[in-house]
Amino acid sequence: MTENKLPVQSEKNQPRIEPVKIKAGKVYLVGAGPGDPGLLTLRGKYLLQRAEVVVYDYLANIKLLQHAPKSAILIYAGKKGGGLHAYTQEGINQLLVEHAQAGKTIVRLKGGDPFIFGRGAEEIEALVEEKIAFEVVPGVTSATAAATYAGIPITHREHTASVAFITGHEDPTKKKSNIQWDKLATGAGTLVIFMGIKNLPIITKKLIKYGRDPKTPVAVVRWASTPEQHSVEGTLDTITEVVRKNGIKPPALVIVGEVVKLRKTIDWFEKRPLFGKRVVVTRTREQASELVAQLEENGASCLEYSTINLEPVDDYQVLDEAITKIGSYQWILFTSLNAVTYFFKRLYRLGMDSRNLAGPKIAVVGRTTAEELLKYGLRADLIPEEFTAEGLAEALLEEGVSDTNILIPRAVKAREILPDTLTQNGAEVTIAPVYKNVLPKGGKTELREQLLNGEIDLLTFTSSSTVTNFLTMVDAGSEEELQQLFDKVTIAAIGPVTAKTVLENGLQVDIQPKRYTIVDMVDSIVSFYQKSPGKN
Ligand code: SAH
Repeated sequence: MTENKLPVQSEKNQPRIEPVKIKAGKVYLVGAGPGDPGLLTLRGKYLLQRAEVVVYDYLANIKLLQHAPKSAILIYAGKKGGGLHAYTQEGINQLLVEHAQAGKTIVRLKGGDPFIFGRGAEEIEALVEEKIAFEVVPGVTSATAAATYAGIPITHREHTASVAFITGHEDPTKKKSNIQWDKLATGAGTLVIFMGIKNLPIITKKLIKYGRDPKTPVAVVRWASTPEQHSVEGTLDTITEVVRKNGIKPPALVIVGEVVKLRKTIDWFEKRPLFGKRVVVTRTREQASELVAQLEENGASCLEYSTINLEPVDDYQVLDEAITKIGSYQWILFTSLNAVTYFFKRLYRLGMDSRNLAGPKIAVVGRTTAEELLKYGLRADLIPEEFTAEGLAEALLEEGVSDTNILIPRAVKAREILPDTLTQNGAEVTIAPVYKNVLPKGGKTELREQLLNGEIDLLTFTSSSTVTNFLTMVDAGSEEELQQLFDKVTIAAIGPVTAKTVLENGLQVDIQPKRYTIVDMVDSIVSFYQKSPGKN
């Protein structure tokens, strides 16, 4: 061990979310909402973040599982209609009981609202029998979400004052039905029918037979509130045929009533400019969120492929040594947000904090990096006018760098223009690698299949390295194969450098914004599809 080596602390003192502390196990029956992960309740999220075991259904969006801690046991309970249950209802009850008796905090995640056609009560009854503590968190039911996302208000002062939620699963021809179709046909203004696709021909006939006008508008909404949402419209006497023609399969909801007419005015979800477009976002895992958020805001369905992952370096010796003599540096330079993040991760691991950085001035490459730095309580002393390595070098030369010691914590591989310029002008530069870019493993087969099957409409590239890494991932064997794989996709590049890399690799660029920002890129994508809506 050299004298300069510092003791490394474990990550124990980093903040982390603790499981809810209860001695005996407890089951939280949580409504997952209809599909859109944004429609989970805050209470649901809170509990998921603290779950030790999550038992989830087919209709609960698996994206919600991201809220659960990495250590949580995730169990798929099935419940897809048509008998493909991964567990029987008794099996699920048993599962909950066993994990609760082992003292675990369990989230039982069910599609929509757990008490609306969800057999939630049966699960609770099993828990009560075993004296297991429980709580129920309501969810946004697909009944209201499907209507809302199809542009239908299920009540309206002028059209209806009552709504009925009905299961269409029950065979309507069975002698002793629990559903009084004769009364419901005209008894409620709006009818929302769950699990009604299979029996739709019989249900519609019954409603007409018992007095509902055959011209009553009907909408059927499949996979409501998700990027796969598909809604169709007809009347009681035509909807069966419309559903058949459009190949609508479960899960879908049937909405019957005059309110369906309001769709003409209110339909919003499927009308968003990028609705139905499947867009690949190729950025580092840490940085994809802004682009994804803006694309999704416009209705796109995003597939995130991280073409670069960031990882800590194996050896921090250079940085550790620099930190022990931090007072001898005149400048610390941060050329990316990631450099800031990884630098402080290490500083904290060494048991230090921002106070240990007193002495040198700090320069950053741009505003984003400056904002990141502020999170650690430090204000940048220098931000260049032009947010590039060249811009930063120029600004530093103006300050005078001759005979100064400069520390640059950065990626292992990076452009050398900044350290080179500084060294040439008489500075002593220490480059301390704090993170590295690595190609992610896996994903290749899936990606190639999606490209070949036309399941990807648009590829977005936000830097040259995302292009080259994406192509490395796809790994086309020949020019011919490359053309075949990319035949059906549209390509967007953020700026001229990225576009050049796309062209150099034998592909075309269809979308390129005038200004090189995420907002402008998304704007260009939107106008591209507005001009040619039928395009992939
Ligand atoms: N507890 C759930 C309903 C479970 S019953 C809730 O409150 O929403 C399952 C049925 O719900 C499906 O067959 C379908 O009719 C309906 N359903 C659930 N999610 C749906 C969705 N995203 N889009 C359309 N229908 C959905």
